[in-house]
Amino acid sequence: MPYSNTRVKLASRPVGLPKPENFSIDTVEIPPLGEGQVLVKTSFISLDPAMRGWMNEGKSYIPPIGIGEVFRAGGAGQVVESNSPAFAVGDYVTGGLNVQQFALRDGAPAQDPANPAFLLKVDTKIAPLETYLATLGMPGLTAYFGLLNTGQPKAGETVVVSGAAGAVGSVVGQIAKLKGCCVVGLAGDQEKVDYCVNELGFDACINYKTENVRTALRAACPQGIDVYFDNVGGEILDFALEQIRLRARIVICGAISQYNNTTPVQGPSNYLSLLVNRARMEGIVVFDNAANYGTAAREMAGWIREGQLSSPKVQVEHGIENFLPALLKLFSGQNFGKLVLAP
Ligand code: NAP
Repeated sequence: MPYSNTRVKLASRPVGLPKPENFSIDTVEIPPLGEGQVLVKTSFISLDPAMRGWMNEGKSYIPPIGIGEVFRAGGAGQVVESNSPAFAVGDYVTGGLNVQQFALRDGAPAQDPANPAFLLKVDTKIAPLETYLATLGMPGLTAYFGLLNTGQPKAGETVVVSGAAGAVGSVVGQIAKLKGCCVVGLAGDQEKVDYCVNELGFDACINYKTENVRTALRAACPQGIDVYFDNVGGEILDFALEQIRLRARIVICGAISQYNNTTPVQGPSNYLSLLVNRARMEGIVVFDNAANYGTAAREMAGWIREGQLSSPKVQVEHGIENFLPALLKLFSGQNFGKLVLAP
């Protein structure tokens, strides 16, 4: 029985917030599998802030999505047909499944997650499938490598993380607690603030929408900030820079407040604080750590098993036709934890 596959494609490059006319949807029949190919039925499509950047022309850490191309996305699903010795029908996998209901892939597992052919078998006895798009997937690995390799937190230091209740931020804060740090989050909603403190064990969390961030940071970090893990950019980055300590580390993971700007990105005006404090500000891209994903995921799986790390909440939206409204929730804070789409 041939499968029909509904897909979302990029139709034009958005200016500002993406709109429905920037996308097209079609349905095609899946051709018979070729030698070595695998057909995966997508269970969850990962919705990520980075998708906004992939719509833009210009140099980035990954090429832009081409006009007319199926929209790039990570995903998790189950093999429904296989001509590859590496995958059996019923296997659960994650990889570059894109925004579509089925993904036809060459069955040789690619090692590089930035490679669209990347496909990895996962064990749902260790963790539910969606966790492989959260803690044991790209956001969790971003938190792990960004914090530990670049932030280099030491016991007793103060770590501040923005986007604190999100897929990356919630893991950053928990790992920092595991390393013996005082952890202060920033989130845009009281329920998220309470979650960070009461369920994730942060020492404090600031509601950046209702509190004076400068004053609240000063109160929560009386010694100053040793590590700032930045997910949002904009004025919050500037407030953090104002309060860093000697030899602080600023991890530039993302700048979601700037992704839909129609004016130039708001850069930090307090950058001379890096000079005064002999501090370091460094960008990170999770893909650079591909060779060490396995080790990191095993360590985090161990923390989950021992109850030291809880997986981010996973918010499931439904229907491939709802791709855009679901994606936009990331930019209005209407997601709570890892956002995925069940197509
Ligand atoms: P997320 O935090 O789960 O979701 C996005 C959150 O950003 C929203 O829930 C919202 O939370 C917050 N937000 C939205 N607009 C904002 C604004 N104008 N100002 C402040 N906060 C705003 O998303 P995620 O997947 O974990 O990604 C977090 C960041 O990491 C993003 O910047 C992303 O691009 C980056 N990232 C980078 C890499 C890398 O390799 N460098 C990899 C993965 C992700 P509130 O309700 O709290 O406002």
